[in-house]
Amino acid sequence: MLFIISGPSGCGKSTLVQRVIKKVDNLQFSVSHTTRDKRKSEKEGKDYYFVSKSEFKQMIDDDRMVEWTLFHGHYYGTSRREIEKKGAGDTLLLDIDVNGAEQIKSKLKKAVFIFILPPSFEELKRRLEARGPETAVYIEERLDVARKDIRAYPQFDFIVINDDLEKAVRSLECIIHGMRCSLESRKKEIMPILRSFSGD
Ligand code: ADP
Ligand code: 5GP
Repeated sequence: MLFIISGPSGCGKSTLVQRVIKKVDNLQFSVSHTTRDKRKSEKEGKDYYFVSKSEFKQMIDDDRMVEWTLFHGHYYGTSRREIEKKGAGDTLLLDIDVNGAEQIKSKLKKAVFIFILPPSFEELKRRLEARGPETAVYIEERLDVARKDIRAYPQFDFIVINDDLEKAVRSLECIIHGMRCSLESRKKEIMPILRSFSGD
């Protein structure tokens, strides 16, 4: 099962995803490719696969990306390999921008779309400034994109407001557990139970 976690930059997507992965069984993180520089706290292959622009463009030309976007001059994308490798048996979480979520929506109809909202615009700004080390211009650009991104919320299945972090983590956990109980997800598991009632 694929869960698409999206929302404006700085709303807390990666913080939430990291927390939820530690708490819920059989959850994996889809590691994206990017051409932006690595932040100090990040690890190659864990947070992102850091590649050059020419490598990334080659992947697009070879049709190796399920979706990709150009965000503030840097490429970001989800490779087919990542989805095939990790998506088969487990639940996979994708942390991607709104543009990428729209591309996935047209290709993978069964994915579950979750939109993360910060409690306010002012708090989003505060979080972006506190996270660093981006420049003021860079933060303004992200806030401009956020104003547009926010309009995409009606296309999502679930909304999580990331005000109190622990509450938001719990909401995400509930959505995942709830979707795992859907008829579609339970089909295989319930067959032997149903058969046991048939008297054969
Ligand atoms: P995104 O992945 O959406 O760009 P991050 O997860 O990097 O956002 O979060 C942006 C900043 O906000 C980080 O410094 C993070 O620690 C902080 N943050 C995330 N969630 C909360 C929250 N609920 N309350 C306060 N700060 C938060
Ligand atoms: P950051 O530079 O803060 O790590 O990420 C910037 C934005 O790119 C975030 O909104 C994040 O969700 C998005 N992003 C990260 N990986 C991908 C990806 O593979 N595809 C798309 N479309 N967006 C991504």
